[in-house]
Amino acid sequence: MTLSHDQYQAIAGRLKPSGQAFIDGTFCDAADGQKFETSNPATGQVLASVAHCKSADVDRAVAAARRVFDEGSWSRAEPEHRKDVLLKVAALVREHTDELAVLESLDTGKTITDCLHEIGKDVPAFFQWYAELADKTFGKIAPTGPSALALILKEPAGVAGAILPWNFPLVMAAWKIAPALAVGCSIVVKPAEQTPLTAIRLAELMRDAGVPDGVVNIVPGYGDTAGQAIGLHNDIDIVSFTGSTEVGRMFMRYSGDSNLKGIGLEMGGKSPFIVLDDAPITDDLIEHSAMSAFWNGGQNCSANMRQLIAAPLVEEFSVRIVERVKAFRLGDPLDPATDIGSMITQDHKTIVMDYIQSGRDEGAQMIAGGDVDMPGHFIAPTVFQNVTPGMKIAGEEIFGPVLGIIPVKSAEEALSIACDTDYGLHATLFTRDIDRAIHMARALPCGTVSVNGFSEGDIKTPFGGYKQSGSLSRDNGTEALEQYMQTKTIWIST
Ligand code: NAD
Repeated sequence: MTLSHDQYQAIAGRLKPSGQAFIDGTFCDAADGQKFETSNPATGQVLASVAHCKSADVDRAVAAARRVFDEGSWSRAEPEHRKDVLLKVAALVREHTDELAVLESLDTGKTITDCLHEIGKDVPAFFQWYAELADKTFGKIAPTGPSALALILKEPAGVAGAILPWNFPLVMAAWKIAPALAVGCSIVVKPAEQTPLTAIRLAELMRDAGVPDGVVNIVPGYGDTAGQAIGLHNDIDIVSFTGSTEVGRMFMRYSGDSNLKGIGLEMGGKSPFIVLDDAPITDDLIEHSAMSAFWNGGQNCSANMRQLIAAPLVEEFSVRIVERVKAFRLGDPLDPATDIGSMITQDHKTIVMDYIQSGRDEGAQMIAGGDVDMPGHFIAPTVFQNVTPGMKIAGEEIFGPVLGIIPVKSAEEALSIACDTDYGLHATLFTRDIDRAIHMARALPCGTVSVNGFSEGDIKTPFGGYKQSGSLSRDNGTEALEQYMQTKTIWIST
């Protein structure tokens, strides 16, 4: 049940968020006592002082994770036990949805509506789904002659590191923690410095659910402190990273400079939304276009910001998308009537506003949006038309609400522009022609292609990127388990 704005504000008033690290089952400060502040992007209000973890804290967390992994109380527990505990985590998250959603909204500037959906529905669903897989993931037996029995075993990889971004803090934590724990790994999680609070609260709920001390550790900190310490740690077996391509690249280097740990990367994108000339411009199409670009204020890795529209449809499309975009309400993220919240920080808003300026300077025509005069770091959903592929706003990931309409003369031209990028995370395609849909979907080099609707898929379908949007690893689906498992062959001569 959705509560009122006043009720969410009342919950916010009662929250006393912890900013402590969670290491070996205990809340603690950083070893050197240093802290940093996390604040509400929509108001500037400081929410908590947060432990600024560095390599000494990461060392402690990894030692705890290794100890418990070697002891086996989680890694070698009956799979049914891991399932039961993770199901309890799902239940506890559901029970605390309002509290967690308000905390997430305060720490990120995201709307309460989105936070309720993510935390009431998605996060517990992840724990539940991977819990159910814990006792349903099998190895294989290879075909051999009678002189041997060859077993192919899946074993937990060991100690995992997880590096999280700020745009979907608790969802990203669940994406990493749930599959890692389902297969028996222990994990050291570094939330983004802008949004550490819900991961810290989740750790407490996981302890209450019966996750043994040391299996989940949360080390808040900055990228060049806690993040780098995780990347370079010699006793971490794999790292699963979600964030920018620039930092993903660093994790490859960290691995090479340390113990060659496995690295799973989920990174940025500049995804196309393609409308072919046979697709009618319906309300549904406009809704998908708007949500693909402006969901979470455009701070979304799979945001469809290059909208490649068949030339004959551009005029109608432009009028209708502007109409739809103007109906978005910006405002207090805790108000259920708000559609779009604040950008994460003033620095990030400045970067996005610079992109908007560059669009104007390069000759694109802004037909909606721009800066707004409100406290916080708000930007109105912005639409440019007459965008050409060479413009900066067409080529670079903006990570803010800036949609560019690029007219295309044919499906071939749309495909060629769509493919002309270093990214390959997502694409949406609208067409009524099944042959064109299949041809384009196969030809687009990206991890997810959604046809006749914008979708990232769901928990059952793998999510990740081609090219510089990802490594070969995938989050979600049964594929996510692969990130956290080793494969062992046991060859028994008979
Ligand atoms: P970011 O790369 O700046 O930060 C991500 C994480 O890396 C943070 O925890 C940060 O502290 C850490 N980090 C930063 N510098 C580091 C360093 N030198 N060493 C080690 N760790 C470091 O990204 P962001 O700004 O938090 O998130 C936005 C980016 O994330 C966008 O590019 C977006 O596309 C991407 N993203 C991708 C997905 C996906 O699933 N593909 C999902 C969400 C976000």
